[in-house]
Amino acid sequence: MNKGKNCWWFIIAQGQILLQPQGELIPYGNLDDLPLTESIVKDRVHIGEYQSSPCYLINLKQPQDIGFGEYSELRALLGVVDDRLFDMAGRAFQLVLFYQTHQFCGQCGNKMHAIDWEVAMKCYHCQHRCYPRVSPCMIVSVRKGKKLLLALHRRHQKNNLQVFTTLAGFTEAGETLEHCVEREVFEEVGLKVKNIEYVASQPWPFPHSLMMGYVAEYQSGDINIDPKELVSAAWYDLDDLPNLPNEGTLARRLINCQIDKIC
Ligand SMILES: [Zn+2]
Repeated sequence: MNKGKNCWWFIIAQGQILLQPQGELIPYGNLDDLPLTESIVKDRVHIGEYQSSPCYLINLKQPQDIGFGEYSELRALLGVVDDRLFDMAGRAFQLVLFYQTHQFCGQCGNKMHAIDWEVAMKCYHCQHRCYPRVSPCMIVSVRKGKKLLLALHRRHQKNNLQVFTTLAGFTEAGETLEHCVEREVFEEVGLKVKNIEYVASQPWPFPHSLMMGYVAEYQSGDINIDPKELVSAAWYDLDDLPNLPNEGTLARRLINCQIDKIC
């Protein structure tokens, strides 16, 4: 590789990523300027481009002091760096998890090998090939006339956050995303919905989800929550909204989209 070419370096060790204190946080530079030795960069994996510069993943077994930066959780970058750069960091984490969990063939048990013409692990014994896992899930905001459905989830209450938000759930095998919206809304709050509209998606690398965001309208039924998932769910007037998810999250974008439709 050209040692003078500036690159983005996603250096990950045991679930943490090396960050620099200033700038874009992800280390950026060339091998003449950064103290990255040959032993550190020799197993780098090219994972894409960001702002026309190559991005490399370096997966270390142990966090090493390599002369700059500090190791941090991936979540520390959420909402702090540009979305595209965060998504690239998320991709780096997902690939680390992929290589770690596909060392042996699920079909015949032999050792798997990374191939270099696409991101995949291959078993040369039985030809079985695996790709990084991406788990689609839907997230939906429901409106009824001028009111908005907001729910307090058990997982949010545990963190003592008391954030009132949208409904969400994983897509099942053989299911369309629209069917998933209908099923999850019915399972979580006992309501039927109509006019399901796609809004936007967001990769969610905790550990490998892809959230697909929808808005929908109430059709029928009374709120009847699933107490395993939710603490409460209710219809809220726009002038009396509880604590909402942060701006910049897909949930908030869907809520804002519904507010625009209501107003
Ligand atoms: Zn095999």
